[in-house]
Amino acid sequence: MSVTAEGDLRDGLSAAEIFANSEGLTYNDFLLLPGYIDFTAEEVDLTSPLTKKILLKAPLVSTPMDTVTEADMAIAMALCGGIGIIHHNCTPEYQANEVHKVKKYKHGFIRDPVCMGPENTVADVIEAKKTNGFTGYPITENGKLGGRLIGIVTSRDIDFREGDPHLSLKEVMTPIDEMITAQSGVTLQDANYILEKSKKGKLPIINGSGELVALIARTDLKKARSYPNASKDSNKQLLVGAAIGTREADRERLKLLVANGVDVIVLDSSQGNSIYQIEMIKFIKKTYPNIQVIGGNVVTRMQAKNLIDAGVDALRVGMGSGSICITQEVMACGCPQATAVYQVSSYARQFNVPVIADGGIQSVGHIVKSLALGASSVMMGSLLAGTSEAPGEYFFSDGVRLKKYRGMGSLEAMENKEGKGSAMSRYFHKETDKHRVAQGVSGSIVDKGSVLRFLPYLQTGMQHSCQDIGARSVAILRDMSYSGDLRFMKRTYSAQLEGNVHGLFSYEKRLF
Ligand code: GDP
Ligand code: 5GP
Repeated sequence: MSVTAEGDLRDGLSAAEIFANSEGLTYNDFLLLPGYIDFTAEEVDLTSPLTKKILLKAPLVSTPMDTVTEADMAIAMALCGGIGIIHHNCTPEYQANEVHKVKKYKHGFIRDPVCMGPENTVADVIEAKKTNGFTGYPITENGKLGGRLIGIVTSRDIDFREGDPHLSLKEVMTPIDEMITAQSGVTLQDANYILEKSKKGKLPIINGSGELVALIARTDLKKARSYPNASKDSNKQLLVGAAIGTREADRERLKLLVANGVDVIVLDSSQGNSIYQIEMIKFIKKTYPNIQVIGGNVVTRMQAKNLIDAGVDALRVGMGSGSICITQEVMACGCPQATAVYQVSSYARQFNVPVIADGGIQSVGHIVKSLALGASSVMMGSLLAGTSEAPGEYFFSDGVRLKKYRGMGSLEAMENKEGKGSAMSRYFHKETDKHRVAQGVSGSIVDKGSVLRFLPYLQTGMQHSCQDIGARSVAILRDMSYSGDLRFMKRTYSAQLEGNVHGLFSYEKRLF
């Protein structure tokens, strides 16, 4: 359509032309020119591969950083059609348990309810409410999940007992014979019905021996939404990934992760083109053929070639483009992200290996640009840090609600005792090294609310962007890029200023 009777009306440049010389470009250096719209934004299909064998309904991945992805984030990402990669700056057991929580997640069921024992006191409940925010605690014989259920305390049991902090819970609890419970295996629909009929606030789920296995809260049922785009395996369990290093000890970690049902392994290295990674890829593909392996990070075709030859199922692309990252400054090594994504993607597509654009994503526009450059999905850190699903507590500074966000190559992350050096291994340090060279910083980020609200914003934004471009799907967007129909235009510095808000005395930037 673009070449008409009046000649070639295509403005701007094709992707190949804009990246033809060796100048390094970033996302802000160019724009995508608009196309023709004959469909609604809602119709735009965001389906895209994460790896050779895994297709996502939303090409969004949360990064394996200890201030971004543990079970809560991975569950939210998968519910919205993306995937989360659990970080490895923790013991193998801790990481495997986070994977376990995602695989065992059932919408509406609290799989690890906080329990109390009969000897706990009213004061314990008041204290626990301060940290947890809820007052409903099942009482089990041993005070733990899996113990025999003997009662429950809720706000109604302790409301008028605050003057009696030492009273034990066995004296105030509602005992088991007055409670409504359900047997494990109950469906969410049945549980809903039972709660509605009984007018109770909590429904403990017990097994055949009367031991507590889960809890359902009425509040959750009221707000339960369905997630038709959720990323699931053939057993209808949510998909989850986990990051590991390439040391000998990581093989044990891997074993534990596989035993807990991990679907994808990310080999976490800032420079993935190494003999260690190549050997690890071969080992995993041979030992666990069903596990998808993502290699990286790489930013050049030569690096990509070695990992593709070793058998990776996807590549993670980016070196020094992350928001918390100082690699390019300190190591003199790296590559501007748009160039890296374009070069590696155009090489990897010949082998059907999808690319994940990792780092430097600051907006919906950056996501669409990276997909237009050939990436199949994007990996995000700073965009997701600061949400309620990110690990860590909120704190206030100058009246602003914040959460910590730190680079995995920051000294603080590398010195994390729990991590036992796994963050260091990403940057080729050993625990015994005398000197460390930081490749990241540690900082804070503003509260963004729940990822379950933020991801739909990103997805709708991507759909509108694809509509402006005239691409009905992410797959078509990539095809348009390779055929030369998608037109790119470089932006001068003043064009970039023009593209941002300007000339106002003050303004508020609310995005959704
Ligand atoms: P409560 O009546 O004070 O216990 O609070 P609600 O039932 O109104 O809300 C509790 C919220 O916390 C629900 O959204 C639960 O899913 C959530 N929650 C997360 N973990 C737990 C837990 O271990 N126990 C309880 N009771 N709620 C939890
Ligand atoms: P962001 O989305 O915040 O711009 O970038 C996140 C990405 O930065 C991560 O997925 C990871 O690839 C990279 N990264 C995380 N920590 C560090 C670090 O300390 N140094 C460097 N160079 N990169 C980091």
